[in-house]
Amino acid sequence: VDGVPAKFATLGLTYDDVLLLPGESDMAPQDIDTASYVSRNVRVNVPLLSAAMDKVTEARMAIAMARQGGVGVLHRNLSIEGQANQVDQVKRSESGMVADPITIRPDATLEEADALCGRFRISGVPVTDGAGKLLGIVTNRDMAFELDRSRQVRDVMTPMPLVTGQVGISREDAMELLRRHKIEKLPLVDGAGTLKGLITVKDFVKAEQYPNAAKDGEGRLVVGAAVGVAGDAYDRAQALIEAGVDFVVVDTAHGHSRLVGDMVAKIKSNHPGIDVVGGNIATRDGAKSLIDAGVDGVKVGVGPGSICTTRVVAGIGVPQVTAIHEASLAAHEAGVPVIGDGGLQYSGDIAKAIVAGADTVMLGSLLAGCEESPGELLFINGKQFKSYRGMGSLGAMQTRGDSKSYSKDRYFQEGVSGDDKLIPEGVEGQVAYRGPLSAVVHQLTGGLKQSMFYVGGRTVPEMKARGRFVRITAAGLKESHPHDIQMTTEAPNYSRR
Ligand code: 5GP
Repeated sequence: VDGVPAKFATLGLTYDDVLLLPGESDMAPQDIDTASYVSRNVRVNVPLLSAAMDKVTEARMAIAMARQGGVGVLHRNLSIEGQANQVDQVKRSESGMVADPITIRPDATLEEADALCGRFRISGVPVTDGAGKLLGIVTNRDMAFELDRSRQVRDVMTPMPLVTGQVGISREDAMELLRRHKIEKLPLVDGAGTLKGLITVKDFVKAEQYPNAAKDGEGRLVVGAAVGVAGDAYDRAQALIEAGVDFVVVDTAHGHSRLVGDMVAKIKSNHPGIDVVGGNIATRDGAKSLIDAGVDGVKVGVGPGSICTTRVVAGIGVPQVTAIHEASLAAHEAGVPVIGDGGLQYSGDIAKAIVAGADTVMLGSLLAGCEESPGELLFINGKQFKSYRGMGSLGAMQTRGDSKSYSKDRYFQEGVSGDDKLIPEGVEGQVAYRGPLSAVVHQLTGGLKQSMFYVGGRTVPEMKARGRFVRITAAGLKESHPHDIQMTTEAPNYSRR
């Protein structure tokens, strides 16, 4: 009826409902470029994000993701200091130059120096006085043979004069100094002898080892972090920004709500230089509301996640390919990138998400089994697993002892008192152990590149523009998977679930 909104939206489709049509292709696979944007100003070399979940992304995963060319979004189910400290760890892990190096005072003990080096995984520290003047450097070489760990740093350090560089030294000159003097660390000082930075051999080696790494303007690894909307969420955003995060994700299960828009607007108005991603939404109107609030990126996905029960507990959601497409119709008009979050099972789903309108995808279950994800290896019947759970699962939302859960407010349940009153929207489980992230990302991006070759899209924007879907039936899906044989060996990029 005219003027009455239709009760039923159009048919919703997800990854298993569609395939990509092969298209005319005039490229060589080595011409393919997978770079894309997470948000207006945050660029990655592979279009993959690791999910802001407590079994997926902490500092170690975020470092590994950025080295592979993607980016990790640090979860927020921990204290503000804990999360900000992880941003700091990622930002210090590898760079052309450490602008604000960790230092130690001359009166610290070796025991304290050990703790510092262990915490930041570094092999030595410049020694400075209270005013920041460089007094010396203490490294493994100075400390290794000292049995008495209560001795002071000043007694074992290599004191000035040291080989140093001036602020602004070129990469080549720095490398030459390191080589000539056979040293591993080059402190940078100003005219007054104040420590201004540090260049290390390790960083040069890593730059060669990870040529595809996603880096910021200063050569540091890129990292994002999640915040919520309740309580001290704004303080959290501020602490993360101070620690150097590249983008903040206002991460909730229902991004089409006033609270989310207000938080986005508040962060943007006080920190216009920081990209803010909002989510999650699953409709064109939802995307539009976030764009109106000022987001630099839109995260799409209500209920597609492997550990998610929102669609059955609340009966809410939109199958993910349709959700991404709908959101992209609003986002592309505004020049805002789209993140397709959740529900991906195979590398082909990354390509489908891009053709539907996503610029990047966010992965949970596909990465939870990696070496770098938080949590121990589990052995069950001789097979190796790692645990994985929804952030809306009872386990993630429960208060543990006197430590608070910060994931309740993702599901707008921060006010619920008593764990037995919570309404979970996720489950807990385990996924097969997959080994190091580098191997997993290699398979995922390899599959994506094959797809781009088949479609004839040399870049992510070209893929988006040229890709076309065919809808398939249950018989088509059956035909897509291996059939009529007994699989004897799983491929590294394929296992039956
Ligand atoms: P996956 O890649 O495992 O299919 O999905 C991961 C995504 O699921 C996450 O990035 C997040 O958006 C979403 N998610 C995480 N935990 C929960 C949960 O407990 N409930 C719901 N509804 N979604 C979740």
